[in-house]
Amino acid sequence: MTTTGEHKLTVSSASVEGAPLSLEGLNPAALHHNPGVAELYEAALRRGEGHISTGGPLAVRTNKTGRSPKDRFIVEDDLTRDAVWWGGFNTPIAPAVFAALHERMQSYVTGRELFVQDLYAGTDPQHRIGVRFVQEMAYHSLFVRNLFVRPSADELAAFVPDWTVLNIPSFRADPERDGVRSDTFILVDFSRRTVLVGGTEYAGENKKAMFGVLNFLLPASGVMPMHCSANVGKEGDVALFFGLSGTGKTTLSADPDRALIGDDEHGWTEQGVFNFEGGCYAKVIGLSQEAEPAIYRTTTLYGTVLENVVLRNDHSPDLNDNSLTENTRSAYPIEFIDNIVPDGMGGHPKNVVFLTADAFGVLPPLSRLSEEQMMYQFISGFTAKIPGTEQGVVDPEPTFSTCFGAPFMPRHPGEYARLLAEKVRASGAKVWLVNTGWSGGKYGQGKRMSIGHTRRLINAALNGELGDVAFVREPFFDLEIPTAVPGVPSEVLNPRGAWADPVAYDAAARTLAGMFRKNFERFSAGVERGVTDCMPEPV
Ligand code: ATP
Ligand code: MN
Repeated sequence: MTTTGEHKLTVSSASVEGAPLSLEGLNPAALHHNPGVAELYEAALRRGEGHISTGGPLAVRTNKTGRSPKDRFIVEDDLTRDAVWWGGFNTPIAPAVFAALHERMQSYVTGRELFVQDLYAGTDPQHRIGVRFVQEMAYHSLFVRNLFVRPSADELAAFVPDWTVLNIPSFRADPERDGVRSDTFILVDFSRRTVLVGGTEYAGENKKAMFGVLNFLLPASGVMPMHCSANVGKEGDVALFFGLSGTGKTTLSADPDRALIGDDEHGWTEQGVFNFEGGCYAKVIGLSQEAEPAIYRTTTLYGTVLENVVLRNDHSPDLNDNSLTENTRSAYPIEFIDNIVPDGMGGHPKNVVFLTADAFGVLPPLSRLSEEQMMYQFISGFTAKIPGTEQGVVDPEPTFSTCFGAPFMPRHPGEYARLLAEKVRASGAKVWLVNTGWSGGKYGQGKRMSIGHTRRLINAALNGELGDVAFVREPFFDLEIPTAVPGVPSEVLNPRGAWADPVAYDAAARTLAGMFRKNFERFSAGVERGVTDCMPEPV
């Protein structure tokens, strides 16, 4: 077990709580193997990493407040050369560069304190991989313990790591010497099955690095890896919610009437779906206790990590304070949500929902997609960022990110799209597009859809309440829109009708359709005709 006192640090290389620990090439002064929550709190406080917040969460601040996608590299070798879709977010690096940086990191940690957690990525015993996280920061150790799947005592005793993540934020790369882009780096080597992270304290890198690994590995065994949340209704009906950051995966999957499978990363196998994770990482900026009671509660619990949430003088969290970042987060084990699926697995989905936060106010709050439209939307991966809060009214900024997660998808988007289409066809799942963004005008003029209305629309779709409802087609994207949904005013269902000036709507829709067309040009050649036909026509 852990053998660290405040003043005397000693190395323990065997642990009663896990398989014998050997860390090749590392000579730390103190090693904590599978430390528990209380030990990690003490270590984090002793090391000055954070503070305890009202109710018990550990609150920390980080040097970077978001991921560093441009600093992620994949080692190019025989395993990856022809299988990775290079370019975009998938930047190659030579094996020798990885090896040299690895060595420098190993000597850097000599004489330092390290925290080691043995965890699974994946709840499904058939597809999970064992990951050994070797980390400098106690709070990262707690973060991965919260976010990944915690092995049972028996599993821990027999634990064999398939992968190792070495995460040392205080180690800064020297771009000239180390062959990387900045002092921050995330290097993934599929042959050594090792991830190196340095320069950034943002804990989300730990989870998204392993997400990228699974997204590369799983398609080889016919498993579709997905950037989506998942929950299941009382009838056992599974729903998936795809979407880019901020579109509502976490918010909308935490539904009191449906059990949560997971909030961000899943695989779809021959048997059904499984969560890659054992916890959630929820955005908490401006969180409302009324609209999101389950997630709100996690911000008051012992064991939760609050990242970049500002504490008041009395250490109560101010969830409205965005002075450090908009991207404030609560990281907690999934058990902190009341209604969950304990084994993190479910059957084949009955419904697949694509979430988008359209700040142009153009896309309908709910529409139904054909299989071709599904592939078209999946490859497009649209959402829109609201403009920065600088002076003047600025237009929203469109984001097109393939598979609703381009930074985490090492393979060609066509591979993922075909796999998804196969799974959807075999399961007969219905596919929906939901705009959780603006209605009645673009950002600054219209309003964001209320969480209550979005939930009602989604539940109507999932519960089969729309079977007898008439649908109409809008002219720009050819999307099928329901004409009536109980509990939601009909005016908002058709976006054109929600705008005060329908002519202004038409102009905005034409502009957005043009952005979709332009983005899709680079994929047209590689997809079937039926999918290309889903491109909005110039009107
Ligand atoms: P990430 O991939 O970064 O985890 P996410 O898809 O899980 O992102 P959420 O954390 O659910 O996104 O963020 C959605 C945000 O939008 C929340 O802050 C939520 O309060 C807010 N929101 C406002 N209106 C809606 C709506 N109608 N539906 C969903 N979320 C909404
Ligand atoms: Mn989320």
